[in-house]
Amino acid sequence: MSVIRFTPIALLLVAFAVPTCCQTFILGFTPASSARESEIEKKFKSIPNADEERRQHRIFTAEPHVAGSKRNNELADYIAAQWKKQGLEDVIIRRYDVYGTNPKSASLEMISPVHYTATLREAPIPGDDDSKNPAISGAWLGMSISGEVAAPVIYAHSGNPEDYDLLRQNGISVKGKIVLVRYSNPYSYRGFKALTAQREGAAAMLVYSDPQEDGYNKGKVDPDGPWGPEYHIQRGAITYDFMVPGDPQTPGWASVPGAKRIPIEDAVSAPKIMALPLSWHDAKPLLENLDGPVAPDSWQGGLGFPYHFGGERVRGHLKIEMENGLQPYYVVEGRIRGSDLPDEWVVLGNHRDAWVFGGVDPSSGTASMMEMTRALGELKQQGLRPRRTIVVCSWDGEEVGLTGSTEWGEQFADDLRQKAVAYINVDEATSGPDFYGQAVASLAPMLEETTRALDDPGGKTLYESWKARVERDRKTGQQSGQFNDSGAANQSLADTRIGSGSDHTVFLNFIGMPVLGLGFVGDYGVYHSAYDDFFWMNHFGDPGYKYHTLMSQLWGVTALRLANADLLPFDFVTYAQNIRQFVTDLADKNKLLNMGGARAESPSAISMWGQPPSAVQPGEARQPLDLIPILTAVDNFESAGKKLNESIAHKLASGPIDPNLAATLNHGMMQLERNWLNPDGIPGRPWFKHILYGARYTYAHLELPGLTEAVEKQDWPTAKQQREILERALEKNTKLLEELNGAVK
Ligand SMILES: [Zn+2]
Repeated sequence: MSVIRFTPIALLLVAFAVPTCCQTFILGFTPASSARESEIEKKFKSIPNADEERRQHRIFTAEPHVAGSKRNNELADYIAAQWKKQGLEDVIIRRYDVYGTNPKSASLEMISPVHYTATLREAPIPGDDDSKNPAISGAWLGMSISGEVAAPVIYAHSGNPEDYDLLRQNGISVKGKIVLVRYSNPYSYRGFKALTAQREGAAAMLVYSDPQEDGYNKGKVDPDGPWGPEYHIQRGAITYDFMVPGDPQTPGWASVPGAKRIPIEDAVSAPKIMALPLSWHDAKPLLENLDGPVAPDSWQGGLGFPYHFGGERVRGHLKIEMENGLQPYYVVEGRIRGSDLPDEWVVLGNHRDAWVFGGVDPSSGTASMMEMTRALGELKQQGLRPRRTIVVCSWDGEEVGLTGSTEWGEQFADDLRQKAVAYINVDEATSGPDFYGQAVASLAPMLEETTRALDDPGGKTLYESWKARVERDRKTGQQSGQFNDSGAANQSLADTRIGSGSDHTVFLNFIGMPVLGLGFVGDYGVYHSAYDDFFWMNHFGDPGYKYHTLMSQLWGVTALRLANADLLPFDFVTYAQNIRQFVTDLADKNKLLNMGGARAESPSAISMWGQPPSAVQPGEARQPLDLIPILTAVDNFESAGKKLNESIAHKLASGPIDPNLAATLNHGMMQLERNWLNPDGIPGRPWFKHILYGARYTYAHLELPGLTEAVEKQDWPTAKQQREILERALEKNTKLLEELNGAVK
């Protein structure tokens, strides 16, 4: 899975808050250490090369390597051995015993009105020898339950709650039936579709890839183009990890061997429904034969005939046998110990497990990681050890429920809360040439600045090509009405709205670490299928491995800046501006804001009401939820951030920083992100503790999660409580920034 499958609406517009006095120096560095850092980065960038990227990519994509498989475990050993050779230190393989599922058998037949047996396989593609590999699995979804059912088939579009509402309006119930849904664009996590089908009382869910989303309607299909061919099957897990990720039987603690486990029946993240993915080849006979009313236009797809809701006519017989039980997952961990500050950690990670070969997801990231670690190792051999410790991890079982990273994060939560500076995730490194960067708002300026130091293969700096892409997307988004321009003077390129769906989740939402996510994206229609492989990468994704190389450089340079900075390059003005935007967006989206023509600049004009003004009858009491206290607290946080930015900029410009002062400032700034955690978590989801960042069940980003969900439910007592939690955290962090500012002077 990846964090990069969301639409660009999430890009925020914020002022870039670099004091003008210091733009020639790298953020967080004194002039002297800035010059030294540039020299180190120059050396670092010269090391990764495309031939090595390709060679590593071939090793990781040679065989299927799903979580828990022998091959995936061999690759863990391979990574550990390579890291030792490259000069990484304290290399260790950590074992977690987790609840997992593996497919034993699956069959699907249409038993009426005509007989059809689904192939549930992906046909080999001419020219792609890997696609003939007998080790390729058939159709399966991780965490499906076993069972057998013969029942009518109903088409339920994307399988979202509103789709079932429409079926109900048409007099169609799915109770005890097999629902046929499709993967949807924009992306919505299949586990949410499964939970929705389960709640609707369906007996089973089939989920297929419609050519309209990722096949021939988009363009040429593999082997002639990057889009999904007739037989491609999107595997995946349906774990309800939006409730709690990781091993379902150890919610909130690590699955180290022998750990306490809850019964699987009590695990909220374990699905209770059968589910199977289909290619459009196998879905077509079912769809073609459905009777009942013709579905609305928005439900129609690319198969060239009208899609119906279905009734009694099409009956399916589905049988799924899964093997369930504990299996070991292995996280490989290595580090380069910091020369000056070994107890401050910059953590980097990529998952290793793939549904099949994982050409893009995740082996492009794994290849980039191996070249990045080789370059870090070479610098170390040249005596250029980073000032802080760089920890690198190869996660396991990401695809099943973000499992390896979650268990590791839970195991080392105390250490990480003490020591961690940030986490940088790379999942799918490369499916095309367009850069996509995500950052917690305080690191957005730092990430943008870093991209100025890298060259895009297109001949510009990475910053310039990133900017061009963002502007292009904004135009497209605006044309389609998706993108809401706030009118801010300067625009941030980084996506500062972070949902779930990859390994950053435990670090941000459970531990309270600032996170970054990096990827290059392009047309990609073979996600989680057997065709996501070495052939695809060499023909469509990144034939010259130039973007893999650039990813190794970017990932490493970003890590080195965080590891070597005199004062950590956090920008809390940008953070404040983002939080203000989150608050006003929440109000806008819920049509609850009486803005009187003013935007966030005038908090006094803002109040928020319990019901949309139009729904309020004359004389009826409104239940107000006053947002002014939050906006005032954001203003105070921003002005404290501004003062600290200025003090730090002047301090850095005037030369070496006293180590004791640096320690005070850096530890304080590291603590700031932790202060956004509420130990109780967000209502109903105690594992998710961050009060600014959360995720919806679809994995989509969800800002101010506790407050937003309460407002959406019109649960005003909870909304007020969540508002107070937010206000208190803002006050606490304002005080922290003021203390730090006091220390500088
Ligand atoms: Zn992935």
